[in-house]
Amino acid sequence: MVAKTLHLLKKYWGYDAFRDKQSEIVNASAYGEHVFALLPTGGGKSICFQVPALCHKGLCIVITPLLALMKDQVESLIQKEIPAAYLSSELNNFEIEKILDDCTNRKYKFLYVSPERLENDNFIARIRYLNISFVAIDEAHCISQWGHDFRPAYRTIPKFIQELRDPVVMAVTATATPQVVSDIAELIFNNDCTIIQKSFARKNIGYNALYSTQKEKDLVERMQVLQGAGIVYCNSRKKTEDLAALLNEKNIKALPYHAGLDLHKKDLAFQKWKNNDVQVIVATNAFGMGIDKPDVRFVFHFDIPSQPEAYFQEVGRAGRDEQPALGLALWNDSDFVQLKKSIAMRYPPKEDIATVYQTLANIHRIAIGSGMNELFALHLDQIAERSQLNANTISASLLLLERAGYISILARGLHRSRVRVIASKDELRYFVDQNPKHEDFLRSLFRLYGSIWDFAVPISEYQLSVLNERSKNEVLTSLNDLHKLQILEYLPASSTSQYSYAKQRVASEEISFPESMYEERRAIDETKLQHMQNLLSQEHCREQFVLRYFGEDAEPCGKCDACQRERALPTTKEILNACLTGKTLDELYAWPVPFNKEKIIELVQEALAEGWLILKENKYFTAK
Ligand SMILES: [Zn+2]
Repeated sequence: MVAKTLHLLKKYWGYDAFRDKQSEIVNASAYGEHVFALLPTGGGKSICFQVPALCHKGLCIVITPLLALMKDQVESLIQKEIPAAYLSSELNNFEIEKILDDCTNRKYKFLYVSPERLENDNFIARIRYLNISFVAIDEAHCISQWGHDFRPAYRTIPKFIQELRDPVVMAVTATATPQVVSDIAELIFNNDCTIIQKSFARKNIGYNALYSTQKEKDLVERMQVLQGAGIVYCNSRKKTEDLAALLNEKNIKALPYHAGLDLHKKDLAFQKWKNNDVQVIVATNAFGMGIDKPDVRFVFHFDIPSQPEAYFQEVGRAGRDEQPALGLALWNDSDFVQLKKSIAMRYPPKEDIATVYQTLANIHRIAIGSGMNELFALHLDQIAERSQLNANTISASLLLLERAGYISILARGLHRSRVRVIASKDELRYFVDQNPKHEDFLRSLFRLYGSIWDFAVPISEYQLSVLNERSKNEVLTSLNDLHKLQILEYLPASSTSQYSYAKQRVASEEISFPESMYEERRAIDETKLQHMQNLLSQEHCREQFVLRYFGEDAEPCGKCDACQRERALPTTKEILNACLTGKTLDELYAWPVPFNKEKIIELVQEALAEGWLILKENKYFTAK
């Protein structure tokens, strides 16, 4: 079996060997053990279930809450010529049926689904006919209300597994506190699993915190002595733009990145940063998933995440190449005042949530008992106008509605253009009589896309322009006009967020949230925030703090600011000795340790004065 997994690894991924814990996980699972794997970010999670799944005959179902991740992984499997597909809420009934048919005919090896899909009766009925031999549960911490990302739909996973004929099960996660670990083992595996954990210690990363009441100044100062690519996280779109502008002013090449940018701009920013054409990406936490850049030298937090889990994951994007890297959090008391407020905002009054749900249905005229498997445009200003609620309340309500499994939200940029008819046949006939110039165009739409009456159907503006012998701009004008006239709903690709009903629409009075999702959840959020504050404000080793939070015992790391403060000159000497010998002063400045220029000069002067560092031809060497 070991030879087989290695052969698969070489054949499809091109690697000669698994990394540390990967081989233990892969082989246990290939032999048929149920495995619960804990791997820090960047630990190569997907290989851990993809390789053993290939060893078992039959279909592998991968459950993941993240659509973008689904798409990434499916695309990358297809590139390796491993047949894979995903079911997401952006597909209509016909497309879903087609994929399930193909699964029955054993056309696919991997099928990616969201946890909400497991609550879909049609899906459950269909999977009985599929030969499912392997179930992989990604982001397994979502099953635990103690996790930082509880998704109630994950609770249906055990029942789903029971429906199947003894598949091999693997759960993976990148962050889990002891409470979460025991929840996962119990809820998914009934405590019958092999738990394999890779230490969360990252030997090459130093975690640093700086109390700062002048963050812009400190940010620029720290960054001016750093070399290599970095990420700066902050909490608003506007701030990403402002900070990127500030850094550019100071000759540090930077680009902003946030969910409000169009797809092209996001792509461009990412590519430029990835190719090191710009040094720094200033981002909201929208920037994170699927970042496979190995040589990130630093991750700065200009704003503080509200949980140690998020902080650990974000800093963990640095130093994947195992070279020295650093995290620096700039914080002050007002950060935590704000974060406490934002937790309160995440839990709006329940009647406001019901109002948002009702407003969605009103806007799109969705009757009770319908709505599933269709996509609807999500315009926050429209909801705000109709509901008289503010944007924060609306966003928080939508998120809770999604978490509770009522709707699912598709961020913009993740879908093709779609059209559906919203006028009735009578309205349409009347409209064409009054506006004959639209008749030919509408006919061509109906001819090309038959199910446009029932669903938001993916369309091609290009195809329409060919068929109508009109320019693409003319086609866009027609579609937009008909949309404004409320004849049809036109959802251009990547222009707006969309939502679908994860279960048929219910009466808004029936919307309910279990305590585990609301009251208890809020208390957990507050506790996690307290841990985050302790992590930054306490005076002992920060890595040790993070690792203990994840249930690992650890010695002080020697790299973080707290450790360095406790350290006398000889240890600084050790660092200089190990890292900097043979370097010029400019190279010393560029070394990714959390010292600014003045500090480095001071250390070097001291070392020169003490005589253990000497200067030869502009380079520094340690005296023997
Ligand atoms: Zn430390």
